[in-house]
Amino acid sequence: MLDYFKKLLGSENVIVPVETNSSKVEEYLKDMADYPSSPLVILQPSSSEEVSKIVAFARKARTPIVARGAGTSLTGATSTNGGIVIDFSKRMKSIFKIDTVNWYVHCQPGIAIDDLNLELSKFGFFFPPDPASSPWCTVGGAIAENSGGMRCFRYGTVKDWVLALKVVLSDGSLVKLGEPLPKNRVGYDLVHLVCGSEGTLAIVVEAWLKIAPKSIQSGEDHKRLLVFFEGWDEAAKAIESIRAHGIQPVLLEFIDRESMEAVNASFDLGLPEHEATLFVETATADQLTQILRICSEKGSSGSYLAVDEKDSERLYNARALVYLGVKALASGCHTEDVVVPLDKLSEYLKLVKEVSKKYNLKIPTAGHAGDGNVHPAILFDRDSKESTEAAERAFAEICEYAIEVGGSVTGEHGVGEQKIEFARSQLLKHNGELVPLLMREIKKIWDPDNILNPGKFQ
Ligand SMILES: Cc1cc2nc3c(=O)[nH]c(=O)nc-3n(C[C@H](O)[C@H](O)[C@H](O)COP(=O)(O)OP(=O)(O)OC[C@H]3O[C@@H](n4cnc5c(N)ncnc54)[C@H](O)[C@@H]3O)c2cc1C
Repeated sequence: MLDYFKKLLGSENVIVPVETNSSKVEEYLKDMADYPSSPLVILQPSSSEEVSKIVAFARKARTPIVARGAGTSLTGATSTNGGIVIDFSKRMKSIFKIDTVNWYVHCQPGIAIDDLNLELSKFGFFFPPDPASSPWCTVGGAIAENSGGMRCFRYGTVKDWVLALKVVLSDGSLVKLGEPLPKNRVGYDLVHLVCGSEGTLAIVVEAWLKIAPKSIQSGEDHKRLLVFFEGWDEAAKAIESIRAHGIQPVLLEFIDRESMEAVNASFDLGLPEHEATLFVETATADQLTQILRICSEKGSSGSYLAVDEKDSERLYNARALVYLGVKALASGCHTEDVVVPLDKLSEYLKLVKEVSKKYNLKIPTAGHAGDGNVHPAILFDRDSKESTEAAERAFAEICEYAIEVGGSVTGEHGVGEQKIEFARSQLLKHNGELVPLLMREIKKIWDPDNILNPGKFQ
């Protein structure tokens, strides 16, 4: 098998962990949340045809295949024990076309979202979904995870921006799904079945993504600000009230004191530290006035308006870098991404505090409050059995609460190997017994030998 891959790709694009020095292999031995992985071989193809040949060969050999972008998954989604890893981030990063009339970009899956946006900005366009990992995370990973981000509150998640895909099926066939058109009603929507399927149905080798003119996200009236609260409950009530008034800012994020302290300490941002902070971007002067009034009515203790573009970036970074800041505080970090109905947000934040106290664990919390998707980061000591078990129980309690109140155990990070049990439980409780069966049948049709990212997602 290795000889075949070396001949196909050139031996410099085939990394065999047992044959290679550790520095080249290191990045593949865990993901960004430290889920361990032990691949048989790592392949770095450059074209869709090469990926097709790799998959056809692996299918015959019944060897599992895991597609990998930047490995920023926080759920163990790219882990494998003895499988073939196809790394898209090194040699499949091309942009084939930026179409400013039909408003799409056609690209390979390994390009990082920030790099894509850099190219789009030269034409006055952008790709709105903005996972906080956008400097590294790839288009393919973001499609397979149906990633979210801060701007998704206003513009939707990645799947809302995917028009068409070229994919490799589990037998190696190359097929195009969908059309790069604003409207297309032909056939079942297979494009969006692949979005969010975590590499378990097909491997994305090309994507046609919708793009938007940059003018919709900027302008004189766009203002970024922080609003401070001395209690989580008041902050949550302010979010509920902003929603109830039908106001839709561009960004509406939550950051607690521990998260702000961590991000200030790690990245020297020098931002005020309060019990709860809302990070908001407004689109109009009227929105700004209304939001400040509502927050004041709900008990805010002050606010800070960015003074210029550089300062606006500083506020954005404070929220985007939270995960890295809090992860540096402990040897272990389980990040939750449960979603709750907005009217349960204040109850949810209270529960996080109770769980933190009950298990004697720090749980810094920040996230996309505007759509009820907040990320408690459960910090624990990997060297302590007691602390590790307490973190697992805390994680379970927060997931179970989300299911109980009609929420979801994952809003954006996906299931991976981390949440299989909770995802099943959510489907059974909210959707009934037939839905998991239907999903298993879908998997059997697309991947009868279960070689695509086995043991993940469902
Ligand atoms: C600091 C930080 C901040 C984050 N912030 C956010 C956030 O705001 N919002 C959010 O949604 N997520 C966030 N994440 C999670 C993660 O970054 C996203 O899910 C991201 O889109 C994953 O991209 P990736 O390229 O790293 O994918 P990987 O981690 O490499 O892969 C993720 C999954 O996609 C599959 N996959 C990868 N490429 C392909 C392909 N070409 N075809 C088929 N399947 C493929 C993999 O098999 C795996 O199942 C964050 C992570 C970090 C570390």
